[in-house]
Amino acid sequence: MKNYIKTDEWNIIEEGFDPHLNKISESIFSLGNGHMGQRANFEEAYSGDTLQGNYVAGVYYPDKTRVGWWKNGYPEYFAKVLNAANWVGIDVVVNGEQHDLAKCKVSNFKRVLNMQHGYLERSFTAELSNGNQISINAKRFCSIVDEEAAAIRYAITPLNFSGEVKVTPFIDGDVSNADSNYDEKFWDHVCHEAGGSDNYVTLRTRKTNFEVCTGSRFAVQQSGQFIRIDAQPILKDKYSASVFTVNLKQGEGTIIYKYVCNVSSQNYAPEQLLGACKTVIHRIADKGFDIMLEEQADAWLKKWAESDIVIEGDASAQQGIRFNIFQLSQTYSGKDARLNIGPKGFTGEKYGGSTYWDTEAYCVPFYLATAPQEVTKNLLIYRYKQLDKAIENAAKLGFNKGAALYPMVTMNGEECHNEWEITFEEIHRNGAIAYAIFNYIRYTGDQDYLNDFGLEVLIGISRFWKQRVNWSGAKKQYVMLGVTGPNEYENNINNNWYTCNMATWCMEYTIEALAYVKAHAADKYQSLLSKLSFDGAEETKDWQHIIDNMYYGEDKELGIYLQQDNFLDKEIIHVKDLPAADRPLNQKWSWDRILRSCFIKQADVLQGFYFFRDKYDVDTLRRNYNFYEPLTVHESSLSPCIHAILASRLGLEQDAYNFYLRTSRLDLDDYNNDTEDGLHITSMAGTWMSVVEGFAGMHVKNDLLRFEPFLPGKWQSFSFNIGFRANTLNVKIVAGGVHIANVSGKLISVGVFEEVVEIGAGVSVFVTQ
Ligand code: BGC
Repeated sequence: MKNYIKTDEWNIIEEGFDPHLNKISESIFSLGNGHMGQRANFEEAYSGDTLQGNYVAGVYYPDKTRVGWWKNGYPEYFAKVLNAANWVGIDVVVNGEQHDLAKCKVSNFKRVLNMQHGYLERSFTAELSNGNQISINAKRFCSIVDEEAAAIRYAITPLNFSGEVKVTPFIDGDVSNADSNYDEKFWDHVCHEAGGSDNYVTLRTRKTNFEVCTGSRFAVQQSGQFIRIDAQPILKDKYSASVFTVNLKQGEGTIIYKYVCNVSSQNYAPEQLLGACKTVIHRIADKGFDIMLEEQADAWLKKWAESDIVIEGDASAQQGIRFNIFQLSQTYSGKDARLNIGPKGFTGEKYGGSTYWDTEAYCVPFYLATAPQEVTKNLLIYRYKQLDKAIENAAKLGFNKGAALYPMVTMNGEECHNEWEITFEEIHRNGAIAYAIFNYIRYTGDQDYLNDFGLEVLIGISRFWKQRVNWSGAKKQYVMLGVTGPNEYENNINNNWYTCNMATWCMEYTIEALAYVKAHAADKYQSLLSKLSFDGAEETKDWQHIIDNMYYGEDKELGIYLQQDNFLDKEIIHVKDLPAADRPLNQKWSWDRILRSCFIKQADVLQGFYFFRDKYDVDTLRRNYNFYEPLTVHESSLSPCIHAILASRLGLEQDAYNFYLRTSRLDLDDYNNDTEDGLHITSMAGTWMSVVEGFAGMHVKNDLLRFEPFLPGKWQSFSFNIGFRANTLNVKIVAGGVHIANVSGKLISVGVFEEVVEIGAGVSVFVTQ
C-alpha cells in the first residue's frame, strides 16, 4: 500500500521524483482514447526502471502458448496486446550531455493527470552533471475528438546558461513486449520516411499481419514565434527521427510541439495507411496544439456530464471515483464493435489485453448508465460476431449441434487461456454473456436486440448447457460436474451452485426469448430456426426438463446454498482468524493448500445473489452473506464491489463503505502492490457499481428504474448523472432523502424507497426516507 498521490478532486498529482515509484506512476498516469493508449513513459531518454507501453486497440500478437504439460484442447497461442511504436520520444542533449532523469539531479518534479480536461502534464527542474540546469514542462493527450490523433507540447527553459540543445523527436518501432514468451519481437518493418518535420514508420505484426502506421510532425516555437528548423533525417530499421539544434537563451522557453497519429489496417487498406496517416498529421498540425486541447477539454466535459459522480465531504473518495470513471472512459469509447475492454486497458501487458467475462459482468452496467445505448450494444455485438468461433470452440471440446462456449480469454473469438481448470471448467462465463443481453434489454428496453442478435447467441449458449449437464442416476436430478466457479480457489468441483443456477437461468431466458421473437418477429424467428436447424419443440422440452430437475446444493439447517458439493466438509475458518503473514494467500500458500481450504477468492454464491436480486428474499441473502463473506479473501479486484452492493442491500452500511474503499483507490494507493503492471480497469467499473448499485441501490424492475439509497457516514452527499432510456437524470443523495432531477427527456416514473414518483421534464423532486 502506498500513499504518495496527493488528494485533489479533479487531478491525480505526484510531487517529487522517486524512481522506485516510476513504474507505478507510469500506470496511474496512463492516457488513452479507446483507439490507442500508453503508459506515462517520459518523452526524453530514461535509463532507469521503466515499463515502456504504447498500445493500439485490437492489434495483437498470438504468442505461442507456453505450458509444461500440454492438454488436448489447449489453445495454440495467447493473444497479447502489443507494445507498439513509441511515439512520445523526444531526445534532448544539452551542451553535449543527454538529458536523462536517472542521471541528473531532479527538483520540483510534479506530474498531474488532469481528469476534467483529459491531459497529462509533467514539470521539473533538472541539473545535468555538466552543471546545466533546465526546467521542463511537458503536456500531452490522446485526443478523444480525433481518436487517431495525439499531441505533445514539450517546453525547455535553460535556467543558468545559454547554449545549444540538440533535439531528436522520434518514432521507434523497435520495441518488444516485456511478457513475450520466447523473447520474440512481434513487429516487422514495412517502411519508414523522414523529411522536413515529418516522420513515419509503418510496422506489420508477425503472424497476424496487422499494419500500423505511426506518424509525427514537430514544430518549434521561441518567444511566441514558430521558427524555421533544418532537421536531419535519421532512418533505421523500424525507426524514423529528425535531429536538429536550437540555441536556447537563459530564462527563455523553447517549445517543441509533436503532433502524432496512429492508423491501423483495421480501418484502412495497408496501401492507404501512410496516406491516411499523413492526412491526419496535416489536419492536426494545422489546427495546432491549443485548439486541439480546447476541443479535448470540451469533449471531456461532455463525457463528465454523462458520467460524473460527485461526492461531497470526502475528497479522497471523490478523487478515487473520478479516477475510475476517467480510466474506464479512456479505455473504451464504444465506437467500434471489434474492440473490447481488457482487464488492464491501455496501461500494461498483463492479461493479454483481451476480453474476459469482466466485460459483461462488470463493465456493462457502467456503460449502460453513463454512455449512449450504442456503446453497450457494441460490446454485445462483439460477442455476437464471435458466435461462430464460440461454436467452434465448443466443438473442439467435444460438444456438437451448434453448442457455443465463449472463451475465457480472447481477442478474436478464439480461446487463448491455457489452464485446464479455467479454459475447460470456468464455463460460467457463458452465463455472464447471456446475462448481459438480458441486462441490456432490461435497462434500455431495446427488445429488438433479441430478434436481430440476442436470440441466436442465447440458443448457442443454452445448447451448450444442455450438453454440459448430465442426469445423475443416484440423485435422480441433473448435475454439473467438473467446473470452476468465479472462485478460482476451487477447481474441478461438482455442482457449483452459481454455475448450475446460471445454466438453468440461461435456458429459461432463452425459452422466454424464443416466445418473444416468435410473437413479435415471426419472419426472423422462422429464418433463425432454419439457419440453426433448431427443433423448437424438442430442444426446449429438453431444456425445460433440466430447468425442472436441476440439482442445487443446499444446507437446510444453515439455510444456505452450497458453493459446491461437500463444501461443509472443509474446515471452516474465518479470514479474520488467519495470521496476517499468510495473506495474500495466493502469494503465501501452496496451491494445494488453497484448494483444500475454505477460503474464497471472490464472490461466487454471492455473485449469483448479485445477478438475481429479485429471486431471493433478504433473509436468504443475509444468511448466505453471513456465511460466505467471512470466508472470502477478496484476492480478485472484482470481489469487493459485489460485496459492497450486497452489504448495501442488507443495510450493512459500514461494511459496504469499507468494501468500496478497497476498490475505489486500489490502484491510486497500490493496495495490492501490483499497480506497476497496469491498472485494474475492469474492476473500476465495479467501483462505479458500488456507488450507484450499492449506496444508491439503483436497479430496474418491471421497466421501472428504482433507487434504495443510503448516505455513507462520512459523506455529506453524493450525486450522479445517468441516462435511462430517453431520459437523463441527476440523482443526489443527501441526509434524509434523495433529489432526482429529470434533466432531459419525457415524464418518467421512478421508484424511490417504497414510493413511485412521477417526474416531469425539467422537474426536480425530493423524496424523504
Ligand atoms: C479473476 C477473474 C477475472 C480475471 C481478469 C482473475 O483474477 O479471478 O474473475 O476474469 O482476473 O480480471
